Amino acid sequence: MKVFKFGGASVKNAEGVTNVFKILESFKNSKLLVVISAMGKTTNALERIVDLYFAKDNALNQDIDALKRFHVDIASDIFPNHHDVFESIQGIIDDLLATLKRNKSTQYDFVYDQIVSYGELLSTTIVSAYLNQNGLQNIYVDAREFIKTDTTHRDAKVDWETTQSSIKNNLPEHNLIITQGFIGSDANNFTTTLGREGSDYSAGIFAYCLNAESVSIWKDVPGVLNADPRVFEETQLLHHISYGEAIELAFYGASVIHPKTLQPLQRKEIPLFVKSFQNPEEEGTSVKK
Ligand code: ASP
Ligand code: MG
Repeated sequence: MKVFKFGGASVKNAEGVTNVFKILESFKNSKLLVVISAMGKTTNALERIVDLYFAKDNALNQDIDALKRFHVDIASDIFPNHHDVFESIQGIIDDLLATLKRNKSTQYDFVYDQIVSYGELLSTTIVSAYLNQNGLQNIYVDAREFIKTDTTHRDAKVDWETTQSSIKNNLPEHNLIITQGFIGSDANNFTTTLGREGSDYSAGIFAYCLNAESVSIWKDVPGVLNADPRVFEETQLLHHISYGEAIELAFYGASVIHPKTLQPLQRKEIPLFVKSFQNPEEEGTSVKK
């Protein structure tokens, strides 16, 4: 079993989703668990929705409409007019509205997790349906049933024992599993999140519990570089680095890999590949012992 992770930039539009399809199609003969983040800047949009909700600002409904439109527009480009996915999107938006309406909590961080998690629910619903429509049979799995955490909202700590046993006992057997990054749930099944950019960590958690053969993080950069390409012109690709070096890079702010991702992989010596979703045949960076 290999674990793949696709971030927001890889599914920011219809072209991105079709590109993910192509990459997954080329791994048809591998058993895959695929972790996907919210599309584009959706998590930021949802953070704003939480703020508007607490501020009792009327712009809330407009923002929720825009969130829906963004996802419907992507789906419209890649699905025929009458596809179930449009009902699924509407169902998720209705759920979000119902969650806000029902909410009585005044705890910002708790409400944040209940709302911001809808980004990953939308993205995985759309990607899973698109793959199924085009012959890549997969099953959609709700990561919250498997990644169990404490109640530290917005920075939840993984309950490794419960997570390990849920994955071992309850994860369905399938060659292609699609699930969400970033989200988990507490002992009472309330949604929690692992911290911004936490989808890499989700991939690491699944890989650890599944004893995966590798994790691949598909990015909009060719791999791990020796400097930030947004700042420096002449960056170089690091072909092979150790877990220790990668942890150090992440610790000192290289945003290419989420810092918590590496430890579980290092413990089981599961290699991590950082690869370009634009040039999937290129080698990228490998992080190993
Ligand atoms: N969607 C979440 C975020 O933007 C998690 C992630 O992308 O890794 O922070
Ligand atoms: Mg992201």
